Amino acid sequence: MAYLHTIDRERCKGCGLCVAVCPKDVLELDREANTKGYFPAHQARPQDCIFCAMCGVMCPDVAIRIEEVQDESAA
Ligand code: SF4
Ligand code: SF4
Repeated sequence: MAYLHTIDRERCKGCGLCVAVCPKDVLELDREANTKGYFPAHQARPQDCIFCAMCGVMCPDVAIRIEEVQDESAA
């Protein structure tokens, strides 16, 4: 099964907790602010993500979602 990791830019307030907790150093804060003036997190190195979900558990604003998707390479 494959997974999709998404961060809601407008929900994120750029606290950096997810960046700090990620064991694979996948996440960074953007240089561009969202409409509220916060610098949201994004996956700078998505290829390193192991979908452990620690970032989503840590996020106080529930801005990170990890969902199962159809793995097309396995079809
Ligand atoms: S799911 Fe795990 S490895 Fe992937 S970005 Fe979040 S904390 Fe890092
Ligand atoms: S923990 Fe949540 S609110 Fe904080 S930077 Fe990460 S995604 Fe944004």
